[in-house]
Amino acid sequence: MLQLNAETVHTCRDTIKRLSGEDVSRCFQCGKCTAGCPVAIDMDVTPNQVMRLAQINGRERVLASSTIWLCLSCETCSTRCPADIDIAKVMDTLRKISVAEGYPSPEPAITGFHRLFLASVEKYGRLNELELSIKHNLAIMKPTKDIRLAVGLFSKGKINPFGGKVKDRERVKKIFAESQRFVKVYPESIEREAE
Ligand code: SF4
Ligand code: SF4
Repeated sequence: MLQLNAETVHTCRDTIKRLSGEDVSRCFQCGKCTAGCPVAIDMDVTPNQVMRLAQINGRERVLASSTIWLCLSCETCSTRCPADIDIAKVMDTLRKISVAEGYPSPEPAITGFHRLFLASVEKYGRLNELELSIKHNLAIMKPTKDIRLAVGLFSKGKINPFGGKVKDRERVKKIFAESQRFVKVYPESIEREAE
């Protein structure tokens, strides 16, 4: 059960604010985010509940939730929020914290897809759809899942069977190196916060 502690109650809220600039304490639980979210029905914690848990340092419940991985980053919630909170950005920040802190994903197929997607972009500078589909379907043990779809896409020239590479891969490498900054600075920030 979540224990409220006067000294730590704002820890999660403050971390989110520092990393994303978004202040979840502005949420007044109107529920418009959840009402408009296309995947709220499948979430274990609804978007407005995520906001409330973040306000009262319910960080473990949020960071271990399926919700942060089911979120599509569609930004419907951010557009609807009367308190002007970018909820999609908060969800993205929570995903980063969850990974940085090593929480096991309750949605391994989704997190696995994210990793394969990023690995493909890092390797080629752009997505190789065919390779991603094959690797993902093998990982989830459904190797024939998209075969009919793939035939249709190939016949219409929508997928390049040989993939492709961008010319300036060094710039792509720099982008990926910069993205690692969060993972490197985040634990230090936690220590600073605890001081
Ligand atoms: S961004 Fe995520 S939480 Fe917000 S409406 Fe879309 S799926 Fe739901
Ligand atoms: S729409 Fe905004 S104010 Fe309303 S519950 Fe969601 S986050 Fe809170």
